[in-house]
Amino acid sequence: MVRFNPKARLDQSRVRDAGSGGGGGAGGGLGGGGMRIPIPSGGLGKGGLGGVILIVLLVVLSQCMGLDLTGGGGGGLGSSSQVYSPTRLSDAQDGSGRYADCATGEDANNSQDCARVAIENSLTDYWGSELGGKFRPERAMVTFTGSVNTGCGSASSAVGPFYCPTDESIYLDTTFFDDVLEGQLGGPEGSFVEFYVLAHEYGHHISNLLGYMGQVRSQQTGPQSDGVRLELQADCYAGLWANHAATTEDASGEKLILDLTQDDINQAIDAAKAVGDDYIQKRSGGRVNEEAWTHGSSEQRKKWFMVGYQQGSLDACDTFAAPKV
Ligand SMILES: [Zn+2]
Repeated sequence: MVRFNPKARLDQSRVRDAGSGGGGGAGGGLGGGGMRIPIPSGGLGKGGLGGVILIVLLVVLSQCMGLDLTGGGGGGLGSSSQVYSPTRLSDAQDGSGRYADCATGEDANNSQDCARVAIENSLTDYWGSELGGKFRPERAMVTFTGSVNTGCGSASSAVGPFYCPTDESIYLDTTFFDDVLEGQLGGPEGSFVEFYVLAHEYGHHISNLLGYMGQVRSQQTGPQSDGVRLELQADCYAGLWANHAATTEDASGEKLILDLTQDDINQAIDAAKAVGDDYIQKRSGGRVNEEAWTHGSSEQRKKWFMVGYQQGSLDACDTFAAPKV
């Protein structure tokens, strides 16, 4: 299990909680080019609104790089969303205190919320030194319950964790790990499962900064499509970070992570497999239809995580240059 350095100082400035969302009621605030989809407040994802919500989700999915648990077929990547336009995120409703006590690595050892802050700090430190002048951190890593307003529109937890390129932020409802990944998909449990997902979403931010996201021109799906290559690149970047995670530091040069074990890496691999398109298609009772793949098969996702983890170099993760992924 990951052990954080008790002496490390955590920077909470980009991690925040949006509370429990009611869609439209959050005080507005999506400026810029953000798409706005009105969603009735309350109760998203727990039945009730049926078809309406499904459509909204498909629209949101087409704008964002989520884990896409709809079984494929839905979304390519809308090119309009890939232009950076600063947006003001909606203000926190009632979750503002969630990270207030996360000050040190000791706190991260004792709380999954604080561990999330430590991992965000580790990702930011690693990618900052890897990319140098091309780097800027994500604007925010936002946890929420129910639904949330983003620069890519409103999203409910059913979307799964995602990165929104418009506001360069990562969103996740942390109940996803217990309810969906472990529950519905039978994925692994363990704290590193979430860290893999955070590193994957952060990987989308890196693809965005490096211009790969803009190279995705078509909305094609399938095992060799641009969309799948972008997803596999995020898995590769997650592996790359895992390779270097134990060298990352806080602002004053203290190590953030003391060690990361084979068990952690195995959890990441199992999680990558559990979100493979073929696995999700089988698990949801359908047939395996490669042409609908948006994220890659279990095998592809595992492979690219391992490419990043074992080779440890940014160039190895150029999934767009690989003849076959
Ligand atoms: Zn993704």
